[in-house]
Amino acid sequence: MKRFAWLALLFGLALAAAPVHVVRPGETLYRIAHNYGVPLSELAAANGIANVNLIRVGQKLVIPSTRPSWPAAWGLSVTPWPLVQGRVAVLRVPAGVSAVRVFNLKVPAARGVALVPVPADTRPGAHPFMLVGPELRGELVVVSGGYGHENIALSEEKNALLDREKIRAEKKRLLAACGPWTPELVGRGPWRWPLDHVEETSAFGTRRTYNGRPGGWHGGIDLRGKEGTPVYAPAAGVVALSDELYVRGNTVILRHGLGICSNYYHLSGRVVEEGQRVSKGDLLGYVGATGLVTGPHLHWEVRVLGQTTDPAVFTRPQLWRWLTPAAAAP
Ligand SMILES: [Zn+2]
Repeated sequence: MKRFAWLALLFGLALAAAPVHVVRPGETLYRIAHNYGVPLSELAAANGIANVNLIRVGQKLVIPSTRPSWPAAWGLSVTPWPLVQGRVAVLRVPAGVSAVRVFNLKVPAARGVALVPVPADTRPGAHPFMLVGPELRGELVVVSGGYGHENIALSEEKNALLDREKIRAEKKRLLAACGPWTPELVGRGPWRWPLDHVEETSAFGTRRTYNGRPGGWHGGIDLRGKEGTPVYAPAAGVVALSDELYVRGNTVILRHGLGICSNYYHLSGRVVEEGQRVSKGDLLGYVGATGLVTGPHLHWEVRVLGQTTDPAVFTRPQLWRWLTPAAAAP
C-alpha cells in the first residue's frame, strides 16, 4: 500500500475512535466545547474550523480526547475515559476510599474498585465527583452514547387500561428485589448472551416517546426469539426474583454482587426459584410474550445500583480486564 493510503487509514481509525457530536439548533462551538470539557481552540483545531462562530446544524464534530484533571499522585484511574452515557465505568480508587459520589449516586468501593453506572440521559460534558474517605473532588467527562429515537404508538384505549398504581408498585418491587450492594462479585466475565442466537430487535438506550410524549429510554436490549426458546444465565448468580408481574410478565432477576442485577422479562415459563444459585449457562426459563407486549421476545436488562445500563458491555472482555487488577491476574 502507498504511504498516502496508510496515512488515510490511520487518520480514519483515529476519527472512528473519537466521539462525534452532531450540531443541534441553537448550539454554539463554545457551548459544545464546554459540555465535553475540551478547550475551544482544541475543538476548533480538531475540526479545521477557522471561524468559531461559523458552524451549522447537522455538522459532525470530532471531539478530541480529554484528559483527567486531577493529579496522578491521587492514584485514581477511570476506564473508559471519557465515560459514555448508558455504560458502566470502572474507577480504581486510592486506599481508604469507601465510596464515590457522582451522578446523584453513592457508589460503594470494594478492594479499590467502584463500578459506576452512567445514566443514559446524563448530559454530555463535565460532572463533579467526590471520593468518600480521603475527601477528593474532581470532574468526570461524559460523552454521548449516540442513541437513536423511536416513537411508540399506543392506542388510547390500551393506554387508558394501564393500571398506574400497579405499574408503580411493580417498579418498586423490581428495584427492591436486587437487594443491597454487596462487595463480592459472583461469577467473573465476560458474560455469555442469554440466548444462543443473538439478534437485537431494539437497542439499549433508544430514546422513546409514546404518542409523541417523552417516555425515557429503552432500558434493555430486545432479543428476537420464538416462544419457547431457552434463556440461559449469562454468569453465575443468585435468583433474586422469579414471579409473574403485570407489565413485565414472567420475570427472573439474578443478583451478581457489586450492585449488579440482570433481568429477564416476558418469559413463557420459569424454571428457577428465588434463592437458588445458578452457574453460567444454566437454564432460567423460555422466551415468551407474557405481560404488556405485542409479541414474543426477550427483554434483557442489566441494572447497577438500580440504574439501567447497556448489557452488551458485560459480554465484552474489556470490562473484566478493567475490573481485575493487573497484579492479581493469573
Ligand atoms: Zn425491551
